[in-house]
Amino acid sequence: MRVPPKRAPPAGARQRSVCATGSQASNTVRCPSTATGPIAGLLEQYRDQLPTLFIVSDLTLNLGDTAGADQVRVDVGKARGVKCERCWRYVPSVRTEPDWSGICDRCVEALAEPVNS
Ligand SMILES: [Zn+2]
Repeated sequence: MRVPPKRAPPAGARQRSVCATGSQASNTVRCPSTATGPIAGLLEQYRDQLPTLFIVSDLTLNLGDTAGADQVRVDVGKARGVKCERCWRYVPSVRTEPDWSGICDRCVEALAEPVNS
């Protein structure tokens, strides 16, 4: 049994040289305005988790009516912003204070959490 690579970019993106890794991708998962279906509702339900699930830095989700047949369109482009030195996500900006230089707000929060509380 072949196991897919853990950090694979969205299908076809690497072959078209859009991005070298999944974290460089900035996906738009779009259901066109004529699209409908239960999958639109499912994507909406997990909207906040989709970038992590798809292993991308950014994801824009446009949903149509959820009452018809499933249709999904995915557009892949290069991530915008700067790369966080800790998590390698592309974010709008990274911190500049000496203790947090080069890392994103999410990583600052993660590093500030006590390990064993
Ligand atoms: Zn980070």
